[in-house]
Amino acid sequence: MGRLQKILIPLLGLVLAFWFYSARENFKPEMLKGKRVIVTGASTGIGEQIAYHLARMGSHILITARTEAKLQKVVERCLELGAASARYVSGTMEDMAFAQHVVREAEASLGGLDMLILNHVGASYFGFFDGDVEHVRKLLEINFLSYVAMTTSALPMLKESEGSIVVVSSMAGKVGFPFTVPYSATKFALDGFFSSLRQEFNIQSVNVSITLCILGFIDTDRAVRAAAEVLRELPAPRDECALEILKGAALRRRELYYRYSSTRLPLLLRDCAAELLDYLVRSRYR
Ligand code: NDP
Repeated sequence: MGRLQKILIPLLGLVLAFWFYSARENFKPEMLKGKRVIVTGASTGIGEQIAYHLARMGSHILITARTEAKLQKVVERCLELGAASARYVSGTMEDMAFAQHVVREAEASLGGLDMLILNHVGASYFGFFDGDVEHVRKLLEINFLSYVAMTTSALPMLKESEGSIVVVSSMAGKVGFPFTVPYSATKFALDGFFSSLRQEFNIQSVNVSITLCILGFIDTDRAVRAAAEVLRELPAPRDECALEILKGAALRRRELYYRYSSTRLPLLLRDCAAELLDYLVRSRYR
């Protein structure tokens, strides 16, 4: 009987897990057709690719970043690809008033909001922590506080549409990474804020999903310039990454891991073998 239980219980667990995952809804591009979406940090990199995917799916897109000339080109391309509408607002996320202004622009031009994709990231250095506290403060403002400011301003619209918040984070926001101390700190802060907010939404029956995206090394120009020579792994493609983010968002997943093998799987070690995980992270560097 004891042996039977030992076999039966894990088997039942496996069957239930299979049923749970296979019964989950599948992604269809139509899910994002006509949706009103803000994408931050969309002048280049992953944000730019997210905008192009949304355009192909027929969404209304409002993009933002600092460089107006690049935003103009991305908007033109979005319209060519089939966006229901595309516009931009340029400015810096160092300024919380600008962060709130972007949301007001969405309200004025789109009449509401279905999805807020928070993706922008301020420039930082790649190297040992240099003790520059002012840099940490500035990076927290760009990478964290502006995310909070935009979320707060957008919440009434998102509650009305029962929409979604998408927070682009990193493996460096789940486990300590060397050479990116200020950056990692800002990404850990995002996890704390948005995971706690999700709990409160649940308690208050607020039907706004929060998807935290945990990304590994992606082939954007900035990341490749900073890390390609020191990292042993190859970067994953940014357009595929962008699509996975949108799938996770449309399906209202709580967390999205890309690529799974270099993010979710190593993180399984965090609670049972934290030092081994730390070692594996360090061994990624030349
Ligand atoms: P990029 O550096 O390629 O793009 C960053 C975007 O943010 C640009 O559009 C940039 O535009 C904008 N931006 C930078 N500073 C500001 C500012 N002060 N105010 C407003 N906008 C600003 O980044 P990635 O595409 O590589 O990364 C996108 C997200 O993915 C980030 O959150 C990053 O942390 C995360 N990620 C990326 C990884 C990677 O390997 N690429 C790995 C893990 C996570 P502009 O300069 O015109 O303002």
